[in-house]
Amino acid sequence: MRKPDYYEVLGVDRGASQEEIKKAYRKLARQYHPDVNKDDPEAEEKFKLINEAYQVLSDPESRALYDRFGHDAPSSSVSDPFETVEGLFQMFFGGGVSTSPRGAVDGADRRVDITLTLEEVLHGVEREIEVERLRLCPRCRGQGAEPGTMPERCPECHGSGRVRFTQTTILGTITRVVPCQRCHGEGEIIRTPCRECHGERRVLRRDRLPLTIPPGVEEDTVFVMRGEGDSGLRGGSNGNLYVVVHLAPHPRFKRQGNDLVTQLNLSFPQLVLGDEIEIETLDGKYTLEVPELTEPNSELVIEGLGLPDSRTGKRGNLRVRLGLKMPKKLTDAQRNLLRQYAEASGIRLKKYADTEPAGFFEQLKRTLKREE
Ligand SMILES: [Zn+2]
Ligand SMILES: [Zn+2]
Repeated sequence: MRKPDYYEVLGVDRGASQEEIKKAYRKLARQYHPDVNKDDPEAEEKFKLINEAYQVLSDPESRALYDRFGHDAPSSSVSDPFETVEGLFQMFFGGGVSTSPRGAVDGADRRVDITLTLEEVLHGVEREIEVERLRLCPRCRGQGAEPGTMPERCPECHGSGRVRFTQTTILGTITRVVPCQRCHGEGEIIRTPCRECHGERRVLRRDRLPLTIPPGVEEDTVFVMRGEGDSGLRGGSNGNLYVVVHLAPHPRFKRQGNDLVTQLNLSFPQLVLGDEIEIETLDGKYTLEVPELTEPNSELVIEGLGLPDSRTGKRGNLRVRLGLKMPKKLTDAQRNLLRQYAEASGIRLKKYADTEPAGFFEQLKRTLKREE
């Protein structure tokens, strides 16, 4: 089943401010709270969905990702699904949404995919990794308040970010600790938001970070750049940046482990008589010796011209697969010579059984006749 749109779930439009989203959430959460709707299983589902929608839309970064990618937003696939489940669990059973009373928030991880050529895999490469990430706002240094002002302690929860919530049910009085709704568990309220980040404490920026890629990396190798993801807030740790390597297809070479494989099609005389052929390798030109009587579909191995092993640095081999290149058409001269070759090899060709042999003298006679 398709997941409903989070904005529709909260009944706000896509341009809604954080304040409007918060307001809509509070209203709906009260309305559909499982304690209030004990006999309505649909209310519980709805309550879950409202919380889920709020978790995504209340965080500027995950909201931006959701706006761009919908339910396929990369952060939701990268982040640990248990985190979300845990969050819901805590919502139901009295914990807070934030990981600490002061609302410390860990920065999200970021992922960047890069594509390398085989030449770059061979030699290693210095790359500038371009990453879009939320970093602490330089204007307010992550305080969220306009410089010269300070965030104020929340009067509702006195800065703890949590409040006690007492409710009388048929089972008795239940007291739970829930996130403070006034400050949304942050413990403080920003009266004059920073002009740069509008009180969000972080700004989205595009940075270029240098990364040294050693020789021999493979498809799906992941480089972890610790702390280079989104900045954490209020003591939360920074997220990591994951750089995932892909290999660009090469026009000539395929990678198999540390070996490179290439296909080389040769003519019948080259395979039968042998030849010296200049081929391109990642290291430049190389003269390949094709021995006499080389079988088609066999392989010649050039040691050490493959890719380096990422751990040992030892290079694999270049394997040249030899195929037979068939001619596209045949001249009379070529046909006669091949017939002679067949005769000399004792190969009787049905097609020519009733015609004269194509031997040298016969051919000469015919040539002379033509010249008359
Ligand atoms: Zn700021
Ligand atoms: Zn509060």
